[in-house]
Amino acid sequence: MRRNITVDPLAYANPVQNPEITELLDLASGEILDAIQWISARRYDHLIADRVSIRENLSTDPRFSCALCPVPVYLVSSPEKRFFFRHKSEDGSCPAKTRSVLSREEIQALKYDGQRESEAHKTAKAHIVRSLAADPTNSEIHSERQWRSTRNPSSRRQPDVQAQTVFGRVAFEVQLSTTFLDVVAERRSFYRQEGALLIWVMAGFNPDDRRLTTDDLLFSNNSNILVVDEETAQLSEQESCCYVRCHYRVPDIIDGSLRDCWKNEIVAFRDLTVDPDSQTAWAYDYAGQADLLLQRQEATRLEDEEDLRQRICSFWITRNQQTPETVSRAKIWQDFVFELSAKGVRAPINDRYDRAVTGLMNGVLSAREKTPVGWDFKSLIQVVHRICDGYPEHALALGFALREYECDDLIKAQDKKGKWAKRSQAIRQAILNGDERFVPDPETLPFLKFMFPSIGARVEKFLASGLAKSQF
Ligand SMILES: [Zn+2]
Repeated sequence: MRRNITVDPLAYANPVQNPEITELLDLASGEILDAIQWISARRYDHLIADRVSIRENLSTDPRFSCALCPVPVYLVSSPEKRFFFRHKSEDGSCPAKTRSVLSREEIQALKYDGQRESEAHKTAKAHIVRSLAADPTNSEIHSERQWRSTRNPSSRRQPDVQAQTVFGRVAFEVQLSTTFLDVVAERRSFYRQEGALLIWVMAGFNPDDRRLTTDDLLFSNNSNILVVDEETAQLSEQESCCYVRCHYRVPDIIDGSLRDCWKNEIVAFRDLTVDPDSQTAWAYDYAGQADLLLQRQEATRLEDEEDLRQRICSFWITRNQQTPETVSRAKIWQDFVFELSAKGVRAPINDRYDRAVTGLMNGVLSAREKTPVGWDFKSLIQVVHRICDGYPEHALALGFALREYECDDLIKAQDKKGKWAKRSQAIRQAILNGDERFVPDPETLPFLKFMFPSIGARVEKFLASGLAKSQF
C-alpha cells in the first residue's frame, strides 16, 4: 500500500523533473510558457484551484495547449503530488514525444504555428483588417491568403493580412514572441524581391520590456515599432483613415554622447515613410536625426578646436622671447595648457623654457607670417638658421612649414650668399643618413598635430616611415 503524501497548502508546488510537455501556449495571450516554471511559481493551494478550472474548461474553452501541437492540455499529478501537463487526448501524434530528434528550427516553427492560432493573434489580425478597411484608399484586403511570387510561382507566402495601399501591395505580419530572426530575414528578402513591402505590426509594445525578437524588428526599422490596437482601430473607423501607433526612439546628445528617450504617437498609415529596398516603414527618422546631432556636435568640436588654435597663435605672435612674460600673460598660457589637456593634447608646461613649444611655435609661425615671430630677427632666413642651430629636432617641421606656407621665393631672396642653399642640402643629407640630432621629437608631436594639423601629419608620417623614405 502506498502512503499518502500530504502537502502544506502554502508551500510552492513541485513539478515532475522531466515532463514530456515542456512548454505551453497560453491560448488567450499567445504567450509561450515554460511548464516547469509555471508550476513551481504557484502555491500548492492555488495550483489545485487552477487545476480544477483548467480541467473544467478543457473541452469548451481551453486555457493552454501544448506549444508543439494544437491539442489542449490539463494539469495532472504524480502519486508523489508532483505536477505535469498532459494532452487532452494522447494519440501519439504530438511531436513532443520525439522532441529530441527535432532541430531548433523545427521546434521554433511548431511553436510559431501554435501562436498563430491563439486568440491574441486573431484579435491583432482583426484590428489590422478593420483599420485598413476603414480607409477607402485601401483595397483588396485579405486575411490569411496566399501571396504567390510573381517571379517564381512555386514560391509563396501567407501573410497575416495583405492589401493594396498607397504604397502598393503590402503584406502585414503580426509579430509573435516566436518570430525569430531567420523568419524575419527570410520574409524580408521574399517581399523585397517582389518589390513589395512587408510591415511588421505588434499588438502592443512596452519599450522597457522588449524581447530580442522585438529588437530584431525595432533596429531594422529605423527604431520605429508599429502597433495596431483597439484604440487605433476605432480611430481609423471614426476618421475613415487608417491609423497606426508608432513607438520610436528620439535621440539627444547629453554630456557629449547620444542618449535616447521613447515617444509614441498615432499617425496616419499613409503618412509613414516607406522603403521596399530596406523593408522599412516608419514615422520618425531616428537615424537621420541622430546623424544630424552627431554632425552638429562634430562641427562644434571642430569650431572649438579652431578657436583655441587661433587664440594660441595670436597670443604667441605678440610675445617676445627676450622679454619676461607678465603675470597675466603667464596665466593666459596656463589656461591654454589646461584647455589643450581637456582636448586630450599633451601640452608643454612652460612656454619660456620649454624648447619644444618655443622652437616649434617660433619656427612654424614665422614661416606662416613670413616674418620673425618670438625673436628679434630682421628676416625669416635668420629664423631658419636659428632653428637649425638651436632646435635641430624641429628642422623637419620647419621645412614642411616653409613648403606649406610657400616661403621658397622669400627664403631664396633673403639667402643672398647662398649659405642656406648649401646648408639645407647638407641637412637633408644628414636626415637621410639618420643623423639623430634632426630626428623630430615625438614628445611634441601631439601638440604640433593639434596646432598645425597638416604639418603634424607629415612629421608623423616621417616618424612612422623611417628616415630613408623622407621627402624632405
Ligand atoms: Zn503536443
